[in-house]
Amino acid sequence: MSRNRTRTGAPAQWSRRKFLGLAAGAATVAAAPRAVRAAAPPDVVVIGAGLAGLHAALLLEEQGATVRVLEGSGRIGGRMYTLDDVPTAPETGGTQVGQFYARVIDTAQRLGVGVVETPPGARFQGFAIHVNGELVAPAQWAASSANRLPEADRRTPPSGLLPGYLGRANPLRALDDWQKPEFARFDVPADEFLKAQGASPEALRLMGNNLNANTLPALSALGLMRSVAIVMAGPQPSKQYEIAGGSARLPEAMAKALKGGVDLRQRVTAIRSRGDSVEVRTADGFRHRARYAVVTIPFSVLRDVALYPAPTALQAEAISSLPYTRITQVHMSARRPFWEDGLPPSMWTDTALGRLFALGTAQNGGHGLVVWVTGPNADALDSRPEAEVATWVKAALKRLRPSTNGEFDVHRVVSWQKNPYQRGAYYHWAPGQVQRLAPHVATPLDRIHFAGEHTAKLMSGMEGAMESGERAALEVLERL
Ligand SMILES: Cc1cc2nc3c(=O)[nH]c(=O)nc-3n(C[C@H](O)[C@H](O)[C@H](O)COP(=O)(O)OP(=O)(O)OC[C@H]3O[C@@H](n4cnc5c(N)ncnc54)[C@H](O)[C@@H]3O)c2cc1C
Repeated sequence: MSRNRTRTGAPAQWSRRKFLGLAAGAATVAAAPRAVRAAAPPDVVVIGAGLAGLHAALLLEEQGATVRVLEGSGRIGGRMYTLDDVPTAPETGGTQVGQFYARVIDTAQRLGVGVVETPPGARFQGFAIHVNGELVAPAQWAASSANRLPEADRRTPPSGLLPGYLGRANPLRALDDWQKPEFARFDVPADEFLKAQGASPEALRLMGNNLNANTLPALSALGLMRSVAIVMAGPQPSKQYEIAGGSARLPEAMAKALKGGVDLRQRVTAIRSRGDSVEVRTADGFRHRARYAVVTIPFSVLRDVALYPAPTALQAEAISSLPYTRITQVHMSARRPFWEDGLPPSMWTDTALGRLFALGTAQNGGHGLVVWVTGPNADALDSRPEAEVATWVKAALKRLRPSTNGEFDVHRVVSWQKNPYQRGAYYHWAPGQVQRLAPHVATPLDRIHFAGEHTAKLMSGMEGAMESGERAALEVLERL
């Protein structure tokens, strides 16, 4: 890799207004004037071939910049991951495309991948409930002896408790409300906030199980409110989509559309901005040079990458302490239709087994299943030798749902926190962090710019990742 940079052309003049217009309309992006391609080394090195990095790279290229994408793992897509080698081809990462995912939908359509609307009937058919040692049909829940909730909550199934409490008490309306000072008072432990709303100990116990975070005390109520505000934006019931052919098809098509391509198995260990360039070191000892870097590595992994110049104290605190939700999934298929016991195939439990989701009812006749555990339950599953997990899951399911009789094929165990390039499924805010750290997560370090779902200001998940990639691309374009 040459250390000398030769730049033979600069992108045309940008303006923020022009760029934002381009990013919002794919046709305009494609028609934008292109500058002369630069010889290697490139204008920008993008680190990470997930949605944030690929979207940033595509936008930069569309504007005439030369880009190299470095990806640590051997696969494109990061947290967009379809298990194509499992018979039911389940998603193990990002799946649901919300109705406001303009960038995701636009990019999927423009690259010929497309999205398919998830029919409302296929979205959710309710959970059988296994709580306090009893298996209960959803219709029997209110009157069940397993239901130890006070009168006000008895008719709400366990999975509906948290959305219910938050829906009633959420003061956030606009997508950027969460960072406004007037809402900082909600940046407190979620259990304290819910207690103040009248949640009983049993309601708190159930809300704490199967959380999309690790534990209620370690989660900011304001962060939770932000997630609800995103889901509630727009007409209800909201429409929902999936990427046609599987989530991984979108990042694969994005990578294919790049002129510079993606270099796989390039684990970045150090990023240094000095003088008029950035030097990126990879684990194999290579040094890649570029004028600017866009870094999309999750903070859970970035904390072990050397950065120069050093981040400010608050940015360093964010990198080292931002929590990531621990999720372990066991992908399986059922050998027989155990739901002929009259209960929905999916199951919500207050046990270490967490939740069982029936997947792809249309394609797989309901036989595709995933056991999905979070937080401390994920830790417990991760601590078992992988060879034992299948036996344990089958035995636990047979006990909780006798009609299953343990007749499953276990195809794959995925622990997002064990993945060295992720170390967790997605970030969330700990109490106090929104106020203290959110303003600092995306501050550029000299020529090093940051993107990734954890740096998005409006949206979250896939769309947040692409929003952040667009913001970082714009920051760099304004400096090129
Ligand atoms: C289980 C699960 C379910 C989800 N469900 C949904 C959903 O239904 N809807 C939704 O909108 N979102 C969902 N998400 C979130 C969504 O998938 C992510 O927010 C989004 O894909 C993140 O994109 P990103 O580019 O920010 O990060 P990533 O996809 O993580 O990309 C970062 C890339 O950096 C690479 N990398 C890491 N370290 C290094 C290194 N040292 N050197 C080089 N490369 C490195 C990684 O390998 C990765 O490819 C889900 C995520 C998970 C895990």
